[in-house]
Amino acid sequence: MNSPVLVVESYFDGERYHAGGPYTIRIIDGVIGEILPGDPGSSNATPNSAGDLIVAPFVMPGLTEAHCHLFLDGARLDPQVRKKYLHAPFPEMLQVGWKSLQADLAAGVTLIRDAGDLYGVNTHIKRELHRWTGRAPTLRSPGRAIRKAGRYGGFMAVEVNGPDDIAPTIRKIAATADDLKVLLTGIIDFAHGKMKGDVQFDLAQTRLIVQSARDLNLRTYAHCSGQEGLQIAVAAGIDSIEHGFFMSREILKAMAQKRIAWVPTFAPVYFQLAHPELAGWNARTLERLDAILQQHFEMVAQADAWGVPVLAGSDAGSCGVPHGTGLIDELFFLLRAGLPLEKVLAAATAAPRKLWGMAPANIAPGNAVDCVALAGSPFENIDFLRQVRLLVRCGEVFRPEDWRCPPAVPPAAAGPPAPVGVHS
Ligand SMILES: [Zn+2]
Repeated sequence: MNSPVLVVESYFDGERYHAGGPYTIRIIDGVIGEILPGDPGSSNATPNSAGDLIVAPFVMPGLTEAHCHLFLDGARLDPQVRKKYLHAPFPEMLQVGWKSLQADLAAGVTLIRDAGDLYGVNTHIKRELHRWTGRAPTLRSPGRAIRKAGRYGGFMAVEVNGPDDIAPTIRKIAATADDLKVLLTGIIDFAHGKMKGDVQFDLAQTRLIVQSARDLNLRTYAHCSGQEGLQIAVAAGIDSIEHGFFMSREILKAMAQKRIAWVPTFAPVYFQLAHPELAGWNARTLERLDAILQQHFEMVAQADAWGVPVLAGSDAGSCGVPHGTGLIDELFFLLRAGLPLEKVLAAATAAPRKLWGMAPANIAPGNAVDCVALAGSPFENIDFLRQVRLLVRCGEVFRPEDWRCPPAVPPAAAGPPAPVGVHS
C-alpha cells in the first residue's frame, strides 16, 4: 500500500493547524500528492482508484526526539542498577537500544537524535536500520561524544587529552557521526543549586572543537548548563545547546542572533523534583530544584518570544525518563512554559528537520509522507498526544506494534563496533 488516501477531520502540517475538515490527503508512491478539502465522497475529492482509504480524526508529521540515549533504560531508577548496567555485555545493551527505538515509535516518534554512548549501541543500530526502511524510525547519531579527560560524561564520551588532541579525536569519531556532541560542562549540583566543577573546555578550545567539526561537515551540540559554559558555547558558535539550565536573557539574545538552537530537557530535572525519595533530597534541595525549574520555564518562554529555535528533546534514558513517553512529557513541559501548541508541535516536527538540514516531513504536497495518526486532535484535547493509532511512512500504513525490534542480536553482528579513539 504505497498510495493510500488519507481522509482526516483535521491536521497539523508541521507549522500550522488545519481545522474544519474533512481533508483528503492523497499519497502517490510514498509522496504527498495533493491535499483537498472534503472527503472522497464530495465533489472536491475523488479517491485514487489504486489507493486504500484510511480514515483518521487527526494526522501530523512523525515526531522528532532531539535528545536521548538509546542504550539507557530510563525506567531503571536504582542508581546501583544503573551503574552496574554500564558493565553489561554489549548484546544486553543492544536489546535495550532496540526496545528504546520501539518505544519511540509507539509514541509517534519517527526521527531520533541520539546524544551519545561510549559503547556503540547507537552506531550499531543505525547501521542495521536499513533493513526496516519505511517502518523503523530514522536515527541520527553522534556515535561517541567528546569530553575533557577525567571529567563528566564517561558513559557517552571519549576523552580529549589537551588542545592538540581535539582535532585528531574528532576526526576519529567522525566516521560514524552525523553530528558532533561535546560535553562542555558537568552536571547540576541540586543540593547547592549550582554547577558541579568548572567548564570542560575554554573558549579557544571550544572554538577549535566547532571548527574541527565544521571542517568535517558536522553540526555541533553541547551538553551545557551554567552561565560560564553557556557564554562559551554561544561565543564559539555551537549549533545547539542541550539542557541549558541557569540560562540568562543576555545569552538568549545572542542565541537568537546566531540562530543557536536550545533543547531544554525538562524531563530529567523534573523527575528529581517529583521523586525526591530516590536521591534522598531534603526540603531545601527541593526548593532549589523548584527554583531552577521555574527559571527554566521562564527562559524557555523568553527564548520562544525572541525567536530562539527551541527543540523538543527529553534526554530519555536518564533516570526516570522512559523513551517515547518521555518525549511526550517534554511536549507538555514546553506547553507549561507557555509556548502555544502549534509552536510545541513544530519544535518536535518541522523545526528540528530544518535545523539539521533534513528533508521536511511537513504535510504538504511534494514531501515524502512521514506522519502519525492520533485518536483525535490534540488541539481539542491535549491528551490525544498520547494516543497514537497509525503511522504512515514511505506510503506504508502500519500500527506501531507492527514493527518489532529484533528479538535477538543479529548473529553476524554480535559485538560492538571497533573502539574508536577510546583513551582508557
Ligand atoms: Zn543527554
